[in-house]
Amino acid sequence: MKPIQVTQSSMPRFEEYCEEIKEIWENKILTNNGIKHVQLEEELRKYLKTPNITLYTNGHLALENLLECLNLAGEIITTPFTFASTTHAIVRNGLTPVFCDINPDDFTIQVEQIESLITEKTSAILPVHVYGHICNTKEIERIATKYNLKVIYDAAHAFGITVNGESVANFGDASMFSFHATKVFHTIEGGAITFKDSSLKEILNSLKNFGISGQESVEYIGGNAKMNEFQAAMGICNLRKINEEIDKRKLVFERYLENLQDMEGILLPKIQRDIKSNYAYFPVIFNHDRLTRNEVFETLKKQNVFSRKYFYPLTNRLKCYERKINSGETPIAQYYSERVLTLPLYADLGLEDVDRICAIIKKCR
Ligand SMILES: *Cc1c(COP(=O)(O)O)cnc(C)c1O
Repeated sequence: MKPIQVTQSSMPRFEEYCEEIKEIWENKILTNNGIKHVQLEEELRKYLKTPNITLYTNGHLALENLLECLNLAGEIITTPFTFASTTHAIVRNGLTPVFCDINPDDFTIQVEQIESLITEKTSAILPVHVYGHICNTKEIERIATKYNLKVIYDAAHAFGITVNGESVANFGDASMFSFHATKVFHTIEGGAITFKDSSLKEILNSLKNFGISGQESVEYIGGNAKMNEFQAAMGICNLRKINEEIDKRKLVFERYLENLQDMEGILLPKIQRDIKSNYAYFPVIFNHDRLTRNEVFETLKKQNVFSRKYFYPLTNRLKCYERKINSGETPIAQYYSERVLTLPLYADLGLEDVDRICAIIKKCR
């Protein structure tokens, strides 16, 4: 059997991409806010229905710059049920992550616990829309206003989602999106920040370009995190068929549900109320004593099907943070981290492959 990876990047037709990059050969401008960059930024601003957006070479550096430009200090309340990037961005900015537990149903930050974690040093909340499950943004907003905290969303999984018709890009002070090859929408590698305060645009654009603010002036100690023209061209192509892509993902998602709904000892993902999903992931929880997540993972692997223990370990258990940061008390996150498996999901995954994967899982018990 041909191996099935947990994800597979969507690609435009080869000729379509060639057509898109032709202009780059004509004008010989490969990066630094070229025409493709300008075009994609404007198209994404419209697609995400957001007032302000700035593109990045990847999502992680976008998040690092975002934390930097908001002048945060001290402690940031966040969750450990996420990719290493979220916690790294906090620590690499010289800030201290304070870990809040997650909800058992959607794996997003447990808002009831947030207030008990706030101290005089808290300056922001950095929740994650895990798997495209949207956080309780209303309650987070209420708490942030009460304590005068900034809210930054890690929206790496949430591209294109709307809540009651409202774009996910407009919650909190700002959101970071990742356009990595494995994400629902990609620019090979890439990312973006969407934000409320339009005065941040100048600072972010400067921070991602060595802090340069004018021909003879460098105002910030910035790094380099600009998106290049080839990335932008890939984004322009992929954005043309993003809705189609999400529809195809939906079929795969629903096929999994159909196949696995009657299986015992397994919790399946639910689409939250009032949300138009992007079907980014299919996380399954094996919470039965007799059938462990690791057994299913190994059995699938033997059959050339590659699932992913996403997220395991928790970021507050990563080796690099041993004895360096306080891991806090996050028992719910720990429980799900030991039992979760994300199954292969991408637009071009065949429905008969989904059936086969499900048959292997059902035979495990
Ligand atoms: C992918 C991802 C990132 C980092 O994005 P890159 O574009 O790969 O740098 C950050 N947070 C989460 C939750 C992610 O899944």
